Amino acid sequence: MASTTSKSERNRGVIESYPEFLPVSASTPVVSLGEGNTPLIYCSQLSKRVGRGCEVFVKNEGVNPTGSFKDRGMTVAVSKALEYGAKALICASTGNTSASAAAYAARAGILCVVILPAGKIAIGKLVQAFAYGAKIIAIDGNFDDALRIVRDLGESGDFAIVNSVNPDRIAGQKTAAYEIIDEIGDAPDFHLLPVGNAGNIAAYWVGYQEYHAYKRSTKLPAMIGFQAAGAAPIFYNRIIEKPETVASAIRIGNPASWKQARGAIAKSRGAIDVVSDAEILAAQSWLAQHEGIFVEPASAASIAGLFKCCDSGEAAYSFQKIPEASRIVCTVTGHGLKDPDLTIQRMKELKPVSATTTDVRHAIGL
Ligand SMILES: *Cc1c(COP(=O)(O)O)cnc(C)c1O
Repeated sequence: MASTTSKSERNRGVIESYPEFLPVSASTPVVSLGEGNTPLIYCSQLSKRVGRGCEVFVKNEGVNPTGSFKDRGMTVAVSKALEYGAKALICASTGNTSASAAAYAARAGILCVVILPAGKIAIGKLVQAFAYGAKIIAIDGNFDDALRIVRDLGESGDFAIVNSVNPDRIAGQKTAAYEIIDEIGDAPDFHLLPVGNAGNIAAYWVGYQEYHAYKRSTKLPAMIGFQAAGAAPIFYNRIIEKPETVASAIRIGNPASWKQARGAIAKSRGAIDVVSDAEILAAQSWLAQHEGIFVEPASAASIAGLFKCCDSGEAAYSFQKIPEASRIVCTVTGHGLKDPDLTIQRMKELKPVSATTTDVRHAIGL
């Protein structure tokens, strides 16, 4: 621990970075892959698109060890599970929780069981769960069914549940809010993020409140969550039996942290809104092509939501309510390579040309 180079800082992981804010003690066996401390990227094109002197930052959670923010919570949940003496982990997943749980279980040397909706998991995420050696069970049902089964099995005491119903997951995830404040010196005015099972919006709100209580920030952001239009139980205020969206990570009809999300939105004077699949995919391409940040579809919901706030008087948080020179942070939750199917469609247009400079120059078309 003698070195203070930025590299060793980067690799510390969230437990060693913020032990005083986490439910850990000297006797907690730390299981870490160097998660957290992700880039908070100032986005000039995005700021320009928003206008009015606003500054937009993207918190890129896709560069965590398994490619999503789930690693922040998983390091705490798995470390605590080991401390309690758990022999096996279990989770339901739309993909990223299983990828993360499988990796941290491998590192801890314990079994990980993942229950997945058959045929509904993005290819990159499924590849991860297999690679890390999880015991994978696919069910004929959706995520909400998988979580119900996991809760039943967890009650039997044989497994530690590492879904976001586990408070250690939320504790780990709140560290993203600390990092933002540590980096820009205060909380932003607005924080936008995708909402699925709603653990993350609840976690950020806890983190912002705690740092505010410790006087590390002077204000609290308005929390603005975005659900996919076909999977928007919180927005419509009812359980969605058959949630549908291309954004598989937020394809959830009955969120576990529904109440906490409602609380965060109300207390922060934020909002919950919906974005369509077309808006999500357009925002995903826009962010990759204008800022060089390639995220999975669910992650692009926060960017699609920002565009909606800017462009539409219909938005739950239309731009009239966003003062000039606001600081806005959008969390992008997972890496684009996890869910490449729709981008792969576009690659099919690629046809080889003959291997001559003339033909290649002609094909470039400039
Ligand atoms: C889990 C996940 C979400 C949804 O987060 P919740 O805490 O369930 O609201 C969004 N995007 C990605 C990439 C995820 O993995």
